[in-house]
Amino acid sequence: MGTSTFAERLSQIQDEVAEAAHRVGRATEDITLIGVSKRKPVEDMQQAYNVGLRDFGENRAQEVRDKFPGFNPDGIVRHFIGHLQSNKVKYLPGRVDIIHTIDSTRIADAVDQRFGGQDLCIPVLVEINISGEANKEGVEPAQAMELAAYCAEKPNLQFQGLMTIGPLTSDAARIRRAFREMMLLSEQVVKQVGTSGKTAILSMGMSSDFKIAIEEGATHLRVGTALFGAREY
Ligand SMILES: *Cc1c(COP(=O)(O)O)cnc(C)c1O
Repeated sequence: MGTSTFAERLSQIQDEVAEAAHRVGRATEDITLIGVSKRKPVEDMQQAYNVGLRDFGENRAQEVRDKFPGFNPDGIVRHFIGHLQSNKVKYLPGRVDIIHTIDSTRIADAVDQRFGGQDLCIPVLVEINISGEANKEGVEPAQAMELAAYCAEKPNLQFQGLMTIGPLTSDAARIRRAFREMMLLSEQVVKQVGTSGKTAILSMGMSSDFKIAIEEGATHLRVGTALFGAREY
């Protein structure tokens, strides 16, 4: 990525999103590009905002606590996309607009209580381990319906859809199969559980596989490296 500017990278990715959407007859407006800004300073996020990025993704509760609300310009949407522990949920109310990673009833309860404590209602997605890989967060596909229904019953959670991380492989056919399964699962869950009148969300696709994700029905892409550059851990 060398000397390219953020604006150039954003515009490049937006073109690729539009092309992939076009290939399968989808409208670009139905696809949201989330810039995953984890481990990147607020200055980089401000720069991204200045050239039009509005959706930001973070995966650590403490980083959310430190970055927001210091950075909270008009119109941004703050996505929490990381694994969540009950004792860290307290950092999130008022600092995130949606949580992609509900993976147990315990976490659903913790989020419901913490947001409810501040009279807030938070949209949530259920994270699915679609490829069955060990060490992967998320519930098995067979448990999706139950956990989604559980979230939908909670007074301070709005169930809005599913999220997954694609299989860690360079085998495009395997990635596509996983995303296709997610789309089918998402349709079943949304049909049965509903999304309280909101548009269903299917969050999948990262820097290496977002084009496949678009072709298979993703509504929200989580792109870090391809936009913000490599991360230092
Ligand atoms: C870091 C991260 C991303 C972005 O990954 P890139 O490969 O840098 O695009 C997407 N989703 C989740 C859950 C992440 O933690």
